[in-house]
Amino acid sequence: MDRANVNARRQAQSLENLRVENHALRTQLDDILELAHRNQSILARHQSFELKIIGASHFKELISYIFSELANTSDLDIVTLALVDPRQDLQQMLNDLRIDLQEFPGLLFVRHEHELQTKALLSYKPLLGKYQSHLYGNLYRSCAKKPASVAVIPLVRQNRLIGYLNLGSFCAERFLTTMATDFIERLGSIIAICLENVLNNERLVYIGLTDPLTNVSNRRYVEQRTLEEIARARRQSYGIACMYLDIDFFKKINDEHGHQGGDDVLCEVAKRIKAELRLSDTLGRFGGEEFVVLLINANLQDAMLVAERIRRSIAGKPFTLSDKGHCSTTISIGLTTVSEKHNLGEATAVAREMISRADRALYDAKRSGRNQVRCE
Ligand code: GH3
Ligand code: MG
Ligand code: MG
Repeated sequence: MDRANVNARRQAQSLENLRVENHALRTQLDDILELAHRNQSILARHQSFELKIIGASHFKELISYIFSELANTSDLDIVTLALVDPRQDLQQMLNDLRIDLQEFPGLLFVRHEHELQTKALLSYKPLLGKYQSHLYGNLYRSCAKKPASVAVIPLVRQNRLIGYLNLGSFCAERFLTTMATDFIERLGSIIAICLENVLNNERLVYIGLTDPLTNVSNRRYVEQRTLEEIARARRQSYGIACMYLDIDFFKKINDEHGHQGGDDVLCEVAKRIKAELRLSDTLGRFGGEEFVVLLINANLQDAMLVAERIRRSIAGKPFTLSDKGHCSTTISIGLTTVSEKHNLGEATAVAREMISRADRALYDAKRSGRNQVRCE
């Protein structure tokens, strides 16, 4: 083979090598480009999700976005949200604002962070890894099929734990203990801020419907709620009961213990009434020393039992006043029901008639000697 030939073959070989190398590089580049596109689209999905949750002004709107869109956006099998609610105030407020929590099976309330049995989470850092029922069971209790791996993200505002966002995947490798958590921490921070924002908005609405002295609902709320409950009872074919309650000889308490003493009694009376009710019932201060209670899905017999319990809880124990003095009091209760077959015609007329019947029954209880329940 002559020299020219050898050179030509070498050149051809190196050309071929270059072509192969070039092809390999091109494939790598394509892979990188594809990954970049994928990342870009994930990023775009996340940005659109973040914009949506930041724009939510109501609790229900925010929670709906989290449950309906986060799983899609982040390619997850499970999303649950646990809110810390030590005294059940949050549930009471949401319930009073007529936010139907049953719509969100993935929304949980816990009394205390320790209740989660996840001591490792007390550091407020996300926890990633395999699902362990003794550790995470409570956070994923609403899921029929448990995840294989999880990311539990504490939601913290001003150094206070407000809840946990709990992500889950049926793939065991999706969340590994060794994974970086900065992205997840960012998601947790944004959701915590959004939650605080919508809850503050709801609180503002709630304050406008709350009696500032006793913290139970005000008359405006009860009247509004009564109309809603009458309509709902009609749709769902059940009865409602209404109580009109009035503290006996309340003027005497003011005279003997001062206005502050009277206020203390009003607050404690409201508390004792509330303690006898279910979360779905309504208690409102109608003015002065008068309260109204609405019992949902209750007949006369049920309502009598509740009214008697309330009467006994007021009469049975003296009241401690803020000046450390004591006094005793009683309450009179007028009771009426609107059964399914009487819930006809305009809701405002049904409501007016119901309240005036309860008021007449109260008058009867007063006339008959007070500290008793009368029905009409
Ligand atoms: P009865 O058994 O017939 O209901 O007698 P009563 O003394 O409870 O009823 P009355 O209607 O004569 O008096 C109600 C009193 O409640 C008069 C009013 O000064 C007082 N009152 C109304 N609102 C408040 C309040 O917010 N705080 C206090 N401390 N007293 C109030
Ligand atoms: Mg009165
Ligand atoms: Mg009175």
